[in-house]
Amino acid sequence: MGDFKLTVLGTRGSVPVEGKNFAIYGGATSCYKVQAGNEEIYLDAGSGIVSALPKATSNITILLTHMHLDHLVGLPFFIALTQKDRPIKIYADKRVGLMPKEAIDKLVSNPFWPCKIEDYPAKVSFHLLPKKFFIGEVEVDTLEGSHPKGSTLYRLTYQGKSIVHATDFEHNSEACAALANFAKNCDILLYDAQYTAEEYERYKGYGHSTPEEGIKVATAAGAKKLIFVHHAPLRNDEELAALERKFGVEFAKAGDEFLL
Ligand SMILES: [Zn+2]
Ligand SMILES: [Zn+2]
Repeated sequence: MGDFKLTVLGTRGSVPVEGKNFAIYGGATSCYKVQAGNEEIYLDAGSGIVSALPKATSNITILLTHMHLDHLVGLPFFIALTQKDRPIKIYADKRVGLMPKEAIDKLVSNPFWPCKIEDYPAKVSFHLLPKKFFIGEVEVDTLEGSHPKGSTLYRLTYQGKSIVHATDFEHNSEACAALANFAKNCDILLYDAQYTAEEYERYKGYGHSTPEEGIKVATAAGAKKLIFVHHAPLRNDEELAALERKFGVEFAKAGDEFLL
C-alpha cells in the first residue's frame, strides 16, 4: 500500500541541453521515477537520474528501455551507487547480442569512465528482462517497441492503476496496434513525440514519433492521460509551449509530478 507517483526527472531526447531557452521543460535526458509504496522504480538512466534522491528506506530498481546514450549517460552519476551495500537492481533486454551488464560495461569502463559499475560501493545486480514480472506489488509488463536495434516499452501497474512508458518508439500500423492494445485503459501514457509531422518526413527510421500519431494511439488505447516525452534537443520552451497549445496535450517538464 502507499502512493503511486510518477516524477519526471528528465525528458529530453538524444542529448542533454541547457540554457535559458530550455529552463521550463528542462534539458536532462530520459529518466522517470515511479514510486509505489516502498518501491522506487527508475525508467531509464539518462542525465535526469543525476538529480534523483532516493529515500534511504526504499527498494531501488532501474528498468532500461535500451542502451542508447541518452538513456544511460546518467547512470555512473546516480547517487545511490555511492551508498555502501545499497541494493540496486538493473533490468534490461539483450541488445545487439549483449547481456545487460556487457552492454553497460562498454560505456562504464576505461577509457570512457575510470571504473566499472561493480567498483561502486552499492550492491548492483543485473537482470535479463522477463516479459512479465513483479517488483514488490508492482506488476511490470513489457513489449518490444519499434526503434533501431529495439527498445522496451513498459507498463507498470499498482493498485489497479497503470503507467505506460513508450519512448524511443516509431509509429507504423503494426507497432501502433500492439501499443494501443498494450496501453489499453492505462492512466498515463508517456509517448515519444520528438518530431513534428513535417520533421518526421526527414527522419523516418530514426525511431521516434509525432504528436499526431501519439493522439491516435492514446485514443485507440483509451488512455486517460497522454503526455508527450523525448523532446527534440533543440526544441526550446517557446516552441514546446506552442506545440502544447496546438495539440492540447501536455509535453513533460522535468520536475513534473503526477499522483495516480
Ligand atoms: Zn532516446
Ligand atoms: Zn534510442
